Amino acid sequence: MKNFKKLNRTISGLRLTFTGAIPQIFAFLLIGAMTGCRNEYYSIDDFSKIAKYDTHVHFEGTNTGLAEQAKEDGFCMIAISVDLGTQPDIYKQFQFGLQQEKEFPSQVKNITSFDLLEWNAPDWDKKVIEHLQQDFDAGALGLKIWKCIGMTYRDSNDQLIMIDNPRFDAIMDFVVSKNKVVIGHLGEPRNCWLPIDSMTVISDQNYFKEHPQYHMYLHPEFPSYEEQIAARDRFLERNPELTFIGAHLGSLEWSTDELAKTLDKFPNMAVDMAERICHWQHQSLTDREKVRNFIIKYQDRLIYGTDLYEGQETKTDEVKAHAHDIWIRDWQYFVTDDEMTAPQVKGKFRGLKLPREVIVKIYNENARKWFKII
Ligand SMILES: [Zn+2]
Repeated sequence: MKNFKKLNRTISGLRLTFTGAIPQIFAFLLIGAMTGCRNEYYSIDDFSKIAKYDTHVHFEGTNTGLAEQAKEDGFCMIAISVDLGTQPDIYKQFQFGLQQEKEFPSQVKNITSFDLLEWNAPDWDKKVIEHLQQDFDAGALGLKIWKCIGMTYRDSNDQLIMIDNPRFDAIMDFVVSKNKVVIGHLGEPRNCWLPIDSMTVISDQNYFKEHPQYHMYLHPEFPSYEEQIAARDRFLERNPELTFIGAHLGSLEWSTDELAKTLDKFPNMAVDMAERICHWQHQSLTDREKVRNFIIKYQDRLIYGTDLYEGQETKTDEVKAHAHDIWIRDWQYFVTDDEMTAPQVKGKFRGLKLPREVIVKIYNENARKWFKII
């Protein structure tokens, strides 16, 4: 038990210290007992008392605002290196993550990545495997594959390299043999293929205004949304043993029905919620019960994450305040039935008030199970 080795929390006037000797599940039961198992639901006040995971954050520097806030708010974060094609590159991002993990061992864990710059070299996959071995040895829980596969990298014939390309097979076999996981951000939200005015949430409108190179509505020569999802699904069919976490609700954020079908089809797949909770909130505007029932039905396959970011240039106080705001608003959405607003959502929606055992799974147990955290 490396996580939350010393999670000090004041509960009902009693100070509890969880040490490495106490499994987290026991910590949960203990918290349950202290706060009253008779309550079927958590409240806003329980927020900082519960050990939680945010499985999708990014570090691009040595600032420690996020880690400090995570400590205050009871989070362990999984930092993901991502092949943005800019500096700091994936290798530097991973080093930043390791440094943070060293400083905040109970707040930070890491996921590595690889790039396709040397794709045309005959030993490209061998080199990637060597690099992954090194990062797994350094403590990486798994690797991230990003939308640059399918949207940016091209082969020697100038064709986009899609994720179902057989050249990824050896790498995925290696990941399976090492009992690691793959996080895949493949494709984009469906909004990406729509004009800005037709997008459902404000955050997508802002992102694609700022990143026109990724706004596929402007690039009809690129693969369609359906083609991206189909390539991902063929990749999962090729790799049935692979533990796969679909980032951003597996790019099926727009429909709980479609996400349900995909989860039914691929039993080794879970999804993180990073930066897509607003899509559930958007759907809650018209059919809150449907979203709620979906989360309850798939409670073992959904993992809390945010996509929070801290760079070398960000201001620590702002990062801390922003992280706390997001974390507490998400908690309010999941545990209460308050009427709420969110900056990304066009209208008022009501919280889902999920049962306590569902909250425990999406905030803690699923992260530990799917990321194979011992
Ligand atoms: Zn991300």
